[in-house]
Amino acid sequence: MKRGTSARVAIAFDIDGVFKYGREWSADGLAALQKASSHGMPFVFVTNGGGGLTEATYGSHLKDKVVSAGGQAAAHAELAVPEAKRMVLSYTPWESQLCPDLRESKVLLVGDPKEKVIEVAKAYGLKKAVHYSDYAQQHPTVNPFRAAMEAGTSHTAVANATKQPISAKTQSFLSLADAAASEAADPFKAILVMCDPYLWYEAIQVSVDVLCSPTPLQLEYDPHAEPMPIHFSNPDFLSKFEHPYPRFAQGAFKIALRALYEAKLRALRVAEETIGEKLGASFRQWGKPTEATFRFVEQRLRDLAPGGAGPVAAERFYMVGDNPASDMEGVRRANIFHRGSTTSWKGVLVKTGVYKEGDETNGAAVVVKGVGEAVDWILEQEAKMN
Ligand SMILES: [Mg+2]
Repeated sequence: MKRGTSARVAIAFDIDGVFKYGREWSADGLAALQKASSHGMPFVFVTNGGGGLTEATYGSHLKDKVVSAGGQAAAHAELAVPEAKRMVLSYTPWESQLCPDLRESKVLLVGDPKEKVIEVAKAYGLKKAVHYSDYAQQHPTVNPFRAAMEAGTSHTAVANATKQPISAKTQSFLSLADAAASEAADPFKAILVMCDPYLWYEAIQVSVDVLCSPTPLQLEYDPHAEPMPIHFSNPDFLSKFEHPYPRFAQGAFKIALRALYEAKLRALRVAEETIGEKLGASFRQWGKPTEATFRFVEQRLRDLAPGGAGPVAAERFYMVGDNPASDMEGVRRANIFHRGSTTSWKGVLVKTGVYKEGDETNGAAVVVKGVGEAVDWILEQEAKMN
């Protein structure tokens, strides 16, 4: 019996550093995808980005860019279409893994741009998602600097004329009391950090408020509440933008938020062991190289396989990426997870992004020049198996 006949073979492609280098798009991307398609090999794109776009929008932008960079190749052969099902953005797994249980619950949404992030939350079925900046706007005392920032004035009381007569102030306290009462009837159930928030102070203040209490207008700290789950979609600490040196990304935001949550619990005189337990129980990470994301990618690749997701003799998954610490690390962890089973991953490391000649490859099966060579190598490997 031929070894490869009943194997499921599929590819996961990273985007940044593989199909695109900075602002430039690879001329080889389209041909590589067409080649994989013509060999009946299903593929998905896996990125720690997303920017608050839906999978359909991200996919259609990606397709336009890959096709136009492909030039001559675009004129021939059918297009390998990066449709929504092929897109695994940093937060994509949440749609099936988190959102069904949170549909009717109040959820704090962190990330910008606001409208886009809210659109994704709605598309995922979340009916009561509250964006952090809307929350701060609805309850103006939550962020003491917001009004001053908007007016371009100093926030110190001494520098400003008294804005409201006493009676009006009493009124605003009353409305805060009303808000607290209605919040008590509908507490927060989770925090979703979907992508980078633009206003770190506000995002951290509101998130720590909710971590300390599911009804933060009513109670500063609720000692009896279950640990508040906070989900982060992207673990990357730094990211490459147009600046010559990398900039802080969502992983950095998490470090800041976590440190301030911990310090706030200490300031509240919460016991050290309770602080440790709360931090351990609340924080959950998604995105490459986490197991949560790789398990999701595997399932998506199974669903896209020509023969469907049914049982097969073997599964061989390939990850094409430029980042040893993220793409290759995910492969390494997946192989530990699947040890002793018939499912395995191979990492194909490209030289067009983060990885530079001589760097640690973190167990990559091969190092190739770019995405075109990566697909050729995978097809060669598979030809040997048959
Ligand atoms: Mg990359």
